Amino acid sequence: MSKHNIPVQKNQQYEVMFEDLTHEGAAVAKIDGYTLFVPKALPGERGVVKVTKVNKGYGFGRLMERLETSEHRAEPPCPVYHQCGGCQLQHLSYDAQLRQKQKMVQDVLERIGKISDIPVHPTLGMDDPWRYRNKAQVPVATREGGLVAGFYQERTHHIIDMDECLIQQEANDKVVQTVKDIANKLHIKGYDEEKHKGVLRHVVARYGLVTKEVMVVLVTRTNDLPHKEQLIAEIRDRLPEVKSIVHNINTRRTNVIFGDQTDVLWGEEYIYDYIGDVKFAISARSFYQVNPEQTKVLYDKALEYAQLSSEDTVIDAYCGIGTISLFLAQKAKHVYGVEIVPQAIDDAKRNAKLNNIDNVDFAVGEAEKVIPWWYAQGIRADVIVVDPPRKGCDEALLNTIIQMKPKRVVYVSCNPATLARDLRVLEDGGYQTKEVQPVDMFPHTMHVESVAILEIKL
Ligand code: SAH
Repeated sequence: MSKHNIPVQKNQQYEVMFEDLTHEGAAVAKIDGYTLFVPKALPGERGVVKVTKVNKGYGFGRLMERLETSEHRAEPPCPVYHQCGGCQLQHLSYDAQLRQKQKMVQDVLERIGKISDIPVHPTLGMDDPWRYRNKAQVPVATREGGLVAGFYQERTHHIIDMDECLIQQEANDKVVQTVKDIANKLHIKGYDEEKHKGVLRHVVARYGLVTKEVMVVLVTRTNDLPHKEQLIAEIRDRLPEVKSIVHNINTRRTNVIFGDQTDVLWGEEYIYDYIGDVKFAISARSFYQVNPEQTKVLYDKALEYAQLSSEDTVIDAYCGIGTISLFLAQKAKHVYGVEIVPQAIDDAKRNAKLNNIDNVDFAVGEAEKVIPWWYAQGIRADVIVVDPPRKGCDEALLNTIIQMKPKRVVYVSCNPATLARDLRVLEDGGYQTKEVQPVDMFPHTMHVESVAILEIKL
């Protein structure tokens, strides 16, 4: 569409019908063939939209008035839903969210992967889709009235003070409120991002869902933590569930939360949690799934799809801290895990020991380099599990899988688009996708995880 035949103008209002939702959670409206993206509207609704931005091929609008309301609309229970941006779907009923995620996976498999004749099952959701996050990372600043700690207002670095996040474990909310209160009393300054001054940058809280253990991490700009002893004493007194108090120093001018130096101020270096029967040690910096209840659902499905026998050798590519590897090791003859972050492999090895699992080997490196090397050493996998980051699998890895010819590939994905792309490559290389199971790990957000099973064509 060229500039002068775009049928809408900025700041003008239009009455529209909403059709679909994008993967960012905005509704799609068409005006004479021109696409507008409108947050907080829903498919099936009609409303008045004010155009806020006009690009060549598409624009953005704000919903000014709803003329027809979707039967799936829900009242967002969070008081700061519209300022925060952390959730995108609280205005859609949870059942409809689950159906929407299933449809997104179906659509993208068909559009990008040309895969349309397999079952994409209904999304496995949570019975209670609130208070599921086990980690809070909350920025802190100082204002006239004292410390504020909460979240960055959408698309800004302005901190909005908040005491409660409805998708966060209550224990973590309590840590943040209490630390804020104590730090205020002790006149500890919050961080000033613009001037790179002040002390306390972030409060991080971690929670073991099964063990109920709590870790508090205080991230400061300064090497010293003022009033350290009083701070520790008060945290211990007011939060007896805390097992570990940790100080992390981040002197840099950066958006990255953690700096390189981490010291345990009081208590343990680790808290623990379980997924199923497997125990995990979690340090201040450890990667650990943020919704362990649904992680179990996802990995149980991966395990079911893997159909392991005690004779099977398995490779877990992108293994992180070994969550899937340790799950699989309980059923398989041997598991090889590979992961690019050395600290994650340290955690994976520690977790294997912690659980007395000795039929696993973990290696640091790029999956697309290490797995071909294993292949050259004569290692053959009966089943390969991949759980790549959003960008999907490296093509070299997919080619190695096609060469190695495991009988099954289990693909765990946090991005349906790259899942679809990679499934197409594997299909062209001799595999057949049997079924796909979406799992809701992040209720009220647009994130969708899924697990696919592929079998080699004979
Ligand atoms: N299954 C893991 C999480 C996987 S998330 C768990 O549950 O713990 C994806 C992982 O892939 C991340 O840990 C990331 O560090 C790793 N990664 C990214 N690129 C990689 C590559 N080229 N080779 C191996 N691992 C990689």
